[in-house]
Amino acid sequence: MSSTRPIRERNPATTAVVGVLGGGQLGRMLALAGHPLGVELVCVDPSADAPAAAVARHVTRDYADPEALAALASCAVVTYEFESVPVSAAEALAEKTRVSPPPEALRVAQDRLLEKQCFRALGIPTPDFAAVGSRAELEAGCEALGFPAVLKTRRLGYDGKGQRVLRSRKELDDAWTALGGVPCILERFVPFERELSLLVVRGQDGSTVHYPLVENEHEGGILRVTRAPAPGLTPSLQARAAEYGSRLCARLAYVGVLALELFEAGGELLANEMAPRVHNSGHFTIEGARTSQFENHLRAILGLPLGSPEVPEPCAMLNCVGALPDPHAVLSVPGAHLHLYGKAPRAGRKVGHITVTGEQALAERLERLRALPGVG
Ligand code: AMP
Repeated sequence: MSSTRPIRERNPATTAVVGVLGGGQLGRMLALAGHPLGVELVCVDPSADAPAAAVARHVTRDYADPEALAALASCAVVTYEFESVPVSAAEALAEKTRVSPPPEALRVAQDRLLEKQCFRALGIPTPDFAAVGSRAELEAGCEALGFPAVLKTRRLGYDGKGQRVLRSRKELDDAWTALGGVPCILERFVPFERELSLLVVRGQDGSTVHYPLVENEHEGGILRVTRAPAPGLTPSLQARAAEYGSRLCARLAYVGVLALELFEAGGELLANEMAPRVHNSGHFTIEGARTSQFENHLRAILGLPLGSPEVPEPCAMLNCVGALPDPHAVLSVPGAHLHLYGKAPRAGRKVGHITVTGEQALAERLERLRALPGVG
């Protein structure tokens, strides 16, 4: 709902008004988690029909628009649900109100080179990498790292966009041109066994909780299925990932939910990237954990006690990509829950997700759901 009511004139029963840069499905799910807590959201997004607009106050403006920034500056705290917002906007807001996670986390997460350097400085293993600022540096990087390697733009890559796998020297020219000759990072290609992610939540008082590591399956660069906890998860793997998450949070003076994406390879955990926000691989927490990532993010940034991240029984999340699933078919699978984002379907577009729980029956339920068009 778009509203002209001034933000200061809020409902006296409201716990707090939270400003959000971005109004996508993550903002929508944050707003839904905020309702029972009496938390109102004001989302800024350039698109008038952004998914959060149906459930939060919505300001249809550019992220750096002065009126949008003024609206956000009057909120108790400002957060992001999309990480490609200008750091300068977050920094300007931080002079007027609390901004959580801190703009520094946004700055690091927006640049794949800074991000990998930050991991390394904290003793968090990563794939070997080299900075590539020119065609000559690309040549030198390939010499040092060998083939195959992955060339990624330092900025604005997501869902597998802005990157190329290089298998031989012959492919360098094409890849360099295709990515636009912009500053890049070259990484050694990791033949990982699987992709995992960790969600860590840090409160204003430094208290920290970690959700169990989850296993993520991608297709065409897009997350399709998350299994929680990651099958075969051992306490030592969980402890190692949790330690990495905690180090990052401490270094960034972090408050809120942070997602850390990892490769598991040969007994090692290598950090690929982080997201300073709630994350697609944490959507299962709405029904699958004692406290959802959305609620815990709000609790953290509002200085409220954090909720338990425990996952009482195995569950899975399937993204709905490119097509709206038939609700009847989805909900006829026991343990399945459907979340639609109010988005028109388009090829490659995430329009919703399904969570499914179940001890013994999980694999069979997943099979049934994956057989539906556009699911997983
Ligand atoms: P990213 O945009 O960095 O998350 O990369 C998208 C996907 O590409 C990842 O989820 C991996 O499946 C794959 N990928 C990224 N970096 C590497 C790497 N260094 N080695 C192997 N696969 C990679």
